[in-house]
Amino acid sequence: MSDREGMIRTIEAETRATVDHTGRSVLRTAVLEAMRRVDRSAFVPDMVKAEAWANQPQPIGHRQTISQPFIVALMTDLLDVRPGDRVLEIGTGSGYQAAVLAELGALVFSVEVIPELAEGARLTLDAQGYGWVATKVGDGALGWPEQAPFDAIVVTAAAPEIPPALAEQLRPGGRMVAPVGQPGCAQTLILVEKDEDGAVTTRDVLPVMFVPLTQPG
Ligand code: SAH
Repeated sequence: MSDREGMIRTIEAETRATVDHTGRSVLRTAVLEAMRRVDRSAFVPDMVKAEAWANQPQPIGHRQTISQPFIVALMTDLLDVRPGDRVLEIGTGSGYQAAVLAELGALVFSVEVIPELAEGARLTLDAQGYGWVATKVGDGALGWPEQAPFDAIVVTAAAPEIPPALAEQLRPGGRMVAPVGQPGCAQTLILVEKDEDGAVTTRDVLPVMFVPLTQPG
């Protein structure tokens, strides 16, 4: 079995193993297909290329990480992205999550606070054929007001509370996935849904561990 196929099998096994938390024993076929198509090895530094397809986070420099494939797949599945959806990502990092969303046909807008990472992700996204993904350097806690509202928002760094600007920039009927909790402590992946009347409901999905959402320095 190829490393790429091995990653998909591991995601499927992890999905079954966490069904009591997530309520999902199988992820959408479109999500698994997108995970299969994106070349994860292009998004990790040379030093960890051999481990690119392993189901674990990898260092990408600046004390940041590319998330574990299963978590990327689960978050993407929870967002229920349709082709043409406008999706905001907070924390571009390597650009990998943005590429997976782009493979699903989303119009992706991704904000990264560390300029060097934003620059690296830009180069990788262009080289991998995801040139239409929009990226910018800035504080993701503010969202991207000029491009709002969004059909879906994915936050890939943890904060004690979801920044209020993000919920505001979610359109009625939209969905947001975010890790919530203290840095370094147990965090919870939260699914936020805004109904057509603008009322917001949240659901705890899974204990997770993300790098912290930081202030621009
Ligand atoms: N989605 C990324 C994972 C990135 S890890 C990927 O697929 O590779 C989280 C990222 O969030 C880091 O790159 C970190 O620099 C970034 N980040 C932290 N605080 C932020 C903020 N306030 N605004 C935008 N990005 C932030």
